[in-house]
Amino acid sequence: MLKHQNIGFFIKKVREHMTKRLSIFNVSYTLRHDRIFIDYEDKDEAAIITTLKRIPGILDFSIAYVTTPDLEAIIQLGRDILNQEISADDVRFKIETKRQNKRFPLTSQEITLHVSKFIIDKTKWKMKVDLHHPEFTLHIELRHEAAYLYLKRIQAMGGFPFGSQGKGTLLLSGGIDSPVAGYLSIKQGMDLELLHFESSPLTPLESVDKVIQLAKILACYTPSKTITLHLVPFYPIHDKILHDVFHPYIITVMRRMMFRIAETISLKRKNLCLITGESLGQVASQTIPSLKVIEEVTHIPILRPLITYDKLSVIDIAKTIGSYEISIQPYEDCCSIYVPKQPVTKPVSRLALTYEAKVNQEEFLNEAIAHMQTLTIGEDFPYRLSSFGIQIKDALHALSMELKTTDDHIQTK
Ligand code: ATP
Ligand code: MG
Repeated sequence: MLKHQNIGFFIKKVREHMTKRLSIFNVSYTLRHDRIFIDYEDKDEAAIITTLKRIPGILDFSIAYVTTPDLEAIIQLGRDILNQEISADDVRFKIETKRQNKRFPLTSQEITLHVSKFIIDKTKWKMKVDLHHPEFTLHIELRHEAAYLYLKRIQAMGGFPFGSQGKGTLLLSGGIDSPVAGYLSIKQGMDLELLHFESSPLTPLESVDKVIQLAKILACYTPSKTITLHLVPFYPIHDKILHDVFHPYIITVMRRMMFRIAETISLKRKNLCLITGESLGQVASQTIPSLKVIEEVTHIPILRPLITYDKLSVIDIAKTIGSYEISIQPYEDCCSIYVPKQPVTKPVSRLALTYEAKVNQEEFLNEAIAHMQTLTIGEDFPYRLSSFGIQIKDALHALSMELKTTDDHIQTK
């Protein structure tokens, strides 16, 4: 995918994302084909680092010090950096020079050799030069306009630029897995819309608040710092499933209904795929035969970023992105409120069709889609729907009444 002709497009996308996110700071840019230099105010450094770490497509970045492109200045700055940033004797160390200015009288290697003796001998630390396994590398980039020196690379997200792979629909539950699946998809270049099936009043609106909090986490990775969340009222279908479906097939049918609705919404919204947090063998509905019987009701591609992840690895990522503490809040959603004692692990398509006949009706599907509520969730969305009502529709109505006199954090479409 990273063919030569794509690189320009990818760089452009990352730049757009970055400049949009950094527009709140007083920054200026020097754009080079392979580098972006950002000049910023010291007070903003921590916030800018946090922002850059949340931009898919940036592999790493460095805090560089700038000086005039001559050897004396480089030596002086090199010493200052080591004095400041290293805090012990005997560290293994090397200097690496890249010379963009090919007209400079010394080659990269000659520059390294020349400055090394003046830098290393004159710092306050004793250094051990180690070209193969250094603990620290002082990078010197010599360009026409300036010399840039830096010691540390800060790891960022990596992956591909936001949206460079198109847009998908993430089926977001309040659990641990789906927000991580969403994060990994964004990291790999997807733009996302979120879709949550909510079963209020059978399930509490606190579980929707949980999903909103998770949406806020995912919004941190988008250029606009907002993300679209579709809330589909699932209660009528859920209720019918609990009453009419043979119990071992309840989850199978529930998921087939979710997939049908999610596909219809995705096609309408021109989203290219569904994305779920399913992981092989995690529960009865995530065995291969179950995945098959569930996905055969749709044609749209389904991405399952976590399919081979074990739970501990998923939890690690969830903790890193800050979704874990939200996901473990104890509110039930439609998949957890009632789990049959013996869910089928090898469902049969024909039986699924028979058991779901009373539920799989156009009217139910259309009704759910017609009453879908769409919110735009920003990173700073401050409201709890559970304080406004016990069903989504009422809560949103009460909230929008209140917003008329406050602000517009929430926009229902
Ligand atoms: P998670 O898998 O996110 O921890 P979970 O364990 O409650 O949540 P599962 O029963 O494992 O969910 O469901 C598998 C996947 O189905 C979820 O990862 C999510 O993508 C999707 N899903 C489940 N419940 C819902 C829901 N109420 N709304 C939207 N998608 C859902
Ligand atoms: Mg799960």
